[in-house]
Amino acid sequence: MGNLTDPRFIRSLCEKYNFRFKKGLGQNFLHDSGVLDAIVEAAVPEGGGALEIGPGFGVLTQALSKGAEKVVAVEIDDQLLPVLSETLAEYPNAKVISGDVLKIDLEKLVKEEFGDMPVSVAANLPYYITTPILLQLLTKNLPFLRIVVMMQKEVADRIMAKEGGKDYGALTVAVQYRCEVSRVCRVPASSFVPPPKVDSEVLCLTLRKTPLVTPKDEDFFFSLIKAVFAQRRKTLVNGLANAGKFGSKEKISSVVEKMGLSPTVRGETLSIETLSALSDALYE
Ligand code: SAM
Repeated sequence: MGNLTDPRFIRSLCEKYNFRFKKGLGQNFLHDSGVLDAIVEAAVPEGGGALEIGPGFGVLTQALSKGAEKVVAVEIDDQLLPVLSETLAEYPNAKVISGDVLKIDLEKLVKEEFGDMPVSVAANLPYYITTPILLQLLTKNLPFLRIVVMMQKEVADRIMAKEGGKDYGALTVAVQYRCEVSRVCRVPASSFVPPPKVDSEVLCLTLRKTPLVTPKDEDFFFSLIKAVFAQRRKTLVNGLANAGKFGSKEKISSVVEKMGLSPTVRGETLSIETLSALSDALYE
């Protein structure tokens, strides 16, 4: 069996299976063993399992299988299935499920495949759907310990952002609300076949036992977050008043004043804690 970290072997598999990379499915295959090791080390819980999204030719699946009890990988492209049968033949603890991760019932899959085992997610994500996948992994009641994922560097910057910066937004709040976030490594475009047009970064999202803040009503909090960041050029008061869900402009102005904030404050300068307090004050 050839080595999937050798680009020549990747090319030989492409020829053997008449496989062409599908740009539309974000198919950029990793061949950097240092990055693979870093993902495995950050993701795999002792005695636990790993859920992989998009195994491609199986380079990360193989690496995860060496450290984890069980690996389940969900792949949308059926043309990859015969390749994976070959590359994972010597990895009996790896299982491939054909499907779209955005449509599959992940709660059921995790329960059926991993039972009570601790499970993390590990993936080199297809970049065209990074945000919907992350939101899916975070909003459902899924029992993951960690989510260790490679993404476009710009998306990683948005997730890691602090209030006041240009990258701070709804994605920052959604992820930091549920997870502690840390950077694992930067990955240059040259680490992939074919190389993408952007640099990448691996982040480790460790699920919090309780969210960073506890707003009285989570749905109301997230609709406020959506409204705050949908109108970044407007003041907080105008943005929320325009959204039409948070009461009159007078009511919003009075809440903002009572909280000791400037009447012209912009929402994107507020910390997640302050946004939660604002949500509670407007909810009453
Ligand atoms: N894990 C491999 C690696 O690191 O080389 C491949 C990563 S490649 C960036 C993304 C993979 O996700 C591809 O195999 C692609 O076919 C798959 N994919 C794309 N959209 C998907 C979806 N909605 N559900 C499951 N897999 C998907």
